[in-house]
Amino acid sequence: MRKLASIRQIKDINPIPKADAIEAVTIDGWTCVSKKGEFQPGDWCVYFEVDSFLPADDPRFEFLKKSGVKKEPSGRERIRLKTVKLRGQLSQGLALPIDLFEELKLCQLGEDVSNLLDVIKYERPEPKVANAAGHRPDVIKKTDEERIQNVYDDYKDQFKDTEYYATLKLDGSSCTVAFLAKDMDQVWSYEAGVPEDEQDNWKAMPVTHRDKGKIGEKIVCSRNMQLKNDPDSHFWKAVKNSAIFSTILYIAKQEWNCEKSFAIQGEVMGPGIQGNKEKLNDYRFFCFSIFDISNQEYLSYDECRKIFDRYQLEQVPLITQNTIKPFTLFDDLDSILEYADGQSINAKYREVIVFKPAYDRSAPSFKVISNKFFDEGRG
Ligand code: AMP
Ligand code: MN
Repeated sequence: MRKLASIRQIKDINPIPKADAIEAVTIDGWTCVSKKGEFQPGDWCVYFEVDSFLPADDPRFEFLKKSGVKKEPSGRERIRLKTVKLRGQLSQGLALPIDLFEELKLCQLGEDVSNLLDVIKYERPEPKVANAAGHRPDVIKKTDEERIQNVYDDYKDQFKDTEYYATLKLDGSSCTVAFLAKDMDQVWSYEAGVPEDEQDNWKAMPVTHRDKGKIGEKIVCSRNMQLKNDPDSHFWKAVKNSAIFSTILYIAKQEWNCEKSFAIQGEVMGPGIQGNKEKLNDYRFFCFSIFDISNQEYLSYDECRKIFDRYQLEQVPLITQNTIKPFTLFDDLDSILEYADGQSINAKYREVIVFKPAYDRSAPSFKVISNKFFDEGRG
């Protein structure tokens, strides 16, 4: 789990040209703006990552309310922390003096204090899925990519010999097509109407609306829901255009003799989805991973690529065709960040790249967000 709010140490402090009330503080790989003189190097602070969703009724976050509050479904107001630029300085996250938080007096350096401070992760609302058959079965793992700024110091020695593929992260709708082998009869999920935070009070139901076939069953899911067949939805249009429904059966037969349950995860892109940043004229399904449901692990990206190539499934673009060792090739965090700058498919600036271990299934993937995109690529 990502630590959205944690106790950390101020590594470095730098002036911001032409600004006399604020300065730039560094915490691990992150730089954010704080009030001048608020910290000294070595001080402890509470650091809140970008995409923290802060309770708006906590007086310590009061000063952020002017940049806008959002309402949770329950009606509670929260503040989303975003990347901003202040006096020309990129600011990612928020550092506040530990003294403001009496309730954290006994906490240790590094401790995750998200629960104590009621900080949750901001999630972009899912596109409306009119035809949900139920929640997404939790045997199919949801992805969440770790940001390089949080892990660079830990990974740089440990994974210096690990080979990676750098892939383009596409901003559409997450979609998963799964093959459930015949012996997979214990797939449970919750009915569509059950709210996420009340699931503990409900009985899970066997997954329904499966497309039953002779050799196994296939289902389509969005990030959170399992979808009924609906030819009008973006998801099903992309499924149809990519022929992934027949292809997944073929893969199941050819590769694993129909004995393995697995999920192909991809991003659905096209008109009306997230502003169609790649200016596509039809719906496409770009594959980026294969999750082995039977063994609960991801295939390496090299294994995924071979399968995508063999069965002619479209995949997310690679930044370079060959593998690279990012922790050897790049001398420091800034050089990895710079590598993220560049074009996407049809847009002048890409937003994010995702590094995926090429051969080692147990190595972690991570994402690198382009700072240049923030400067020039938006809007
Ligand atoms: P995040 O939600 O920022 O942690 O990123 C993970 C999500 O990004 C996945 O659930 C996908 O929907 C989406 N995505 C798009 N392109 C890629 C890619 N190349 N690799 C991994 N995830 C991707
Ligand atoms: Mn996410």
